[in-house]
Amino acid sequence: MGSDLRVFVRSSLGRLTASYLLIIMIMSIGFSVVLYRESSRELGRQIPSQTVFDQRGFGYRSEVHDFFEDRIAEGRRVLLARLVLLNMVTCIAGAGLSYYLAKKTLEPIEENMEAQSQFISDASHELRTPLTALRTTNEVALRRSKLSAADAKDLLQANLEEVIKLQQLTDSLLRLATRTEGQLAVAHVPLQLLITDVVQAMAPAAALKHIEIQETIPDMQVSVDKEAFSQVITILLDNAIKYSPNASTVRVAAVAKNKSLELTVKDQGIGIKAVDLPHIFDRFYRADHSRTRQQVEGYGIGLSLAQKIVQQHGGTITAKSKPGSGATFTVRIPIS
Ligand code: ADP
Repeated sequence: MGSDLRVFVRSSLGRLTASYLLIIMIMSIGFSVVLYRESSRELGRQIPSQTVFDQRGFGYRSEVHDFFEDRIAEGRRVLLARLVLLNMVTCIAGAGLSYYLAKKTLEPIEENMEAQSQFISDASHELRTPLTALRTTNEVALRRSKLSAADAKDLLQANLEEVIKLQQLTDSLLRLATRTEGQLAVAHVPLQLLITDVVQAMAPAAALKHIEIQETIPDMQVSVDKEAFSQVITILLDNAIKYSPNASTVRVAAVAKNKSLELTVKDQGIGIKAVDLPHIFDRFYRADHSRTRQQVEGYGIGLSLAQKIVQQHGGTITAKSKPGSGATFTVRIPIS
């Protein structure tokens, strides 16, 4: 956690604790004042008349009255002392309670801020690598006394590739950052059409590796955000193609069972090791696989975005794999 965040949380904790304590003390003191007033008034009513008259009609000061008056004054003092003591105890216990409540109130905010600052630092880290590459190639080229047209063209080509990568990364980061709750535009869409559109869009990438994509999709309507759900299938198909050998098969299938749609994307690729499986949906996580790192480009954002979208649809996404014999991703979303 950054020091700024820590200072913010600490100062907010102090202010919130003070506010809670103020509320508790206003209530406690207010209640005590009302109690003291009512009790004093009630006690005052108990005093017998100050003057008593004998049989002849002579009035004289009542001793009983004085006795009662003394006792009542004493009673009031004791009541006041007890109320002051009670408020002091309330203040001490209230401070502890206020601190606890303020901490509980700030906990989710703190977690959210921490996740955000982690996201920013991860994203900056990812952006730095292509930016450093760009800077170095340009600096090296500028230091050369002569640069032929062919070299300049190569340099521009290399720069362009890095810029394209940066653009893809910032696009993915933006999609991930803006995909927040309540943004879904859910509508009834034919599942076959939705999947076929995505498969067609992925066909050129699959063709480059002579990969066949097979579809087994029932004729049914689903209530989803078409654009977001297509993105999920795109991410899964893109990975299936990226992590599969040439001339293999990727299968996309869907079945409706137990009031949910179960969609699977199965490939015959390199698969995912058991140690990586629990982390592949984490942001920026890429399996530390020499083949993955060297040959396949990516930033480890796709699956976390897919998971976010599926969860927004009230569903789950899971992965199963046997390294060396492919991976299967299953998306389950509720259907009515
Ligand atoms: P990216 O593919 O850009 O690295 P993802 O978030 O889509 O990011 O995937 C995270 C990691 O999960 C990948 O780096 C890869 O190691 C692993 N992975 C995802 N899909 C597959 C797959 N179909 N086969 C093998 N590994 C996969």
